Amino acid sequence: MMMKEHILFADLIKGLSITIKKFFGPSVTLHYPIERRETPERMRFLHKLVLNSAGRPKCIACGFCERICPPKCIKITRGKREDGKIGLTGYELDIGRCIFCGLCVEVCPEEAISMTDIYELATYNRAEAVYTMDRLVRDVPEKREEEG
Ligand code: SF4
Ligand code: SF4
Repeated sequence: MMMKEHILFADLIKGLSITIKKFFGPSVTLHYPIERRETPERMRFLHKLVLNSAGRPKCIACGFCERICPPKCIKITRGKREDGKIGLTGYELDIGRCIFCGLCVEVCPEEAISMTDIYELATYNRAEAVYTMDRLVRDVPEKREEEG
């Protein structure tokens, strides 16, 4: 009985010493969202449709990304554009279903889609998780601006 109590007391002292050491040591947590960790350069989160020199999406509506996407969260619409040519008229990406595999970026023959480091993608409803062409072109910065 005495032996058991001795072991418990030793464990308690050991645990407390770790707590006290960590309490006065350097902090390993961040004051999110005021502070954020630096993201790796090749981080794969929210997509961006890349524009050509004329300011149009580089996408040629080939549909490779739509076909390769494992959860089928990309929907491309082809049709007559404002300039009378046949091409991309709509691009939808349901980020709520995306698994961020990056296959859509890899397969694109035009380098028309890229992925950014924007990871704050929570929404209050599923409809907001569907990114339309406009949102993927205009609302997504290349890289998240640091706040401060
Ligand atoms: S990253 Fe993967 S899951 Fe997400 S849209 Fe691209 S192919 Fe689909
Ligand atoms: S693979 Fe590239 S060019 Fe083809 S539809 Fe997708 S984004 Fe557009």
